[in-house]
Amino acid sequence: MKAIIVREFGEPEVMKLEEAEIPQPTDSQVLVKIHAAGVNPVDTYLRTGIHAHAPNLPYTPGKDAAGVVEAIGVGVTKWKIGDRVYTADSLTGTYAGYALANEFQLGRLPESVGYEQGAGVWTPYATSYRALFQKAKAKAGETVLIHGASGGVGSAAVQWAKSEGLTVIGTAGSEAGKDLVAGQGVDAVFDHSDDSHYAAISDFTRGRGVDIIIEMLANVNLERDFEALAMFGRIVVVGNRGSLTFTPRLAMTKDATIYGMSLFNSPQSDRDEIHAAIYSGLSEGYLDPLISRSFPLSEAALSHHAVINEKANGKIVLVP
Ligand code: NAP
Repeated sequence: MKAIIVREFGEPEVMKLEEAEIPQPTDSQVLVKIHAAGVNPVDTYLRTGIHAHAPNLPYTPGKDAAGVVEAIGVGVTKWKIGDRVYTADSLTGTYAGYALANEFQLGRLPESVGYEQGAGVWTPYATSYRALFQKAKAKAGETVLIHGASGGVGSAAVQWAKSEGLTVIGTAGSEAGKDLVAGQGVDAVFDHSDDSHYAAISDFTRGRGVDIIIEMLANVNLERDFEALAMFGRIVVVGNRGSLTFTPRLAMTKDATIYGMSLFNSPQSDRDEIHAAIYSGLSEGYLDPLISRSFPLSEAALSHHAVINEKANGKIVLVP
């Protein structure tokens, strides 16, 4: 099979397309034929080697993918050959023609959802579900600011929050991104690159502020988020790419709670809850992954440049 192999950490170009053996499943392992793999920012952090969960070299990148069960180990009880699945991580990496996964690392992909969409399921929908419901305990009737709603996690967060009956404010940093967010049925959309968007959010909530902020770039926004936060509000730090000067009194004054989260830390029982919620949402159609671009596997390096350097407009996927 074709697979991307990383033999040294570094720039996107360290990802090389090579010929590799198709792995064989044993025990409770499942071999998945990959139809599309999701490209996530975390794939780029891991590739640099500067990450708490950096893999051992050599390795094949990728956590998210969608495809079909090709073979199963003797201990597999949940899956049969031919099942349509998405991966929630794997044992061998998803930027490849095939990936080996433990059976609990797979979710069922409804017939109505294409493989490219399936490749955009796990990291975005699991992260946003965990932030909204397992951390912030979001409830119908509350107001949430999805600060960075045009990307994979943000667009998924909008869909979850709308389905639960929250009032949803989304932001993007380009006209195309704002159009995409508006098209998701948000109640209001603002530009996070415009300094006045905090005042506009405050006005939209008639000065009360939002109950919850799902924050995609905390090092830029955390200090000013308090301008848009209601009393007793909750902020979930999902994305961060640096540091900032922060005034803790802001949290005291509003009796606020700041949650950190990393999907890496989520226990399997919480993941099982997320898989069940994703299956319901995809089947009923209120979850609908937005795919912006697909690249051939041979252009994995380009996809990594794009996910970090270009404005987001949904998810980027790789097709083997
Ligand atoms: P993505 O698809 O590349 O989207 C990035 C998002 O951040 C876009 O909506 C982008 O908007 C927005 N953004 C850019 N500048 C911003 C600003 N100044 N304020 C607010 N938002 C801004 O990435 P993703 O997959 O959605 O992931 C988003 C972030 O969460 C990444 O940093 C990722 O590493 C992190 N993440 C964390 C976890 C976790 O477990 N904690 C899991 C998954 C992802 P425009 O492009 O429209 O400007």
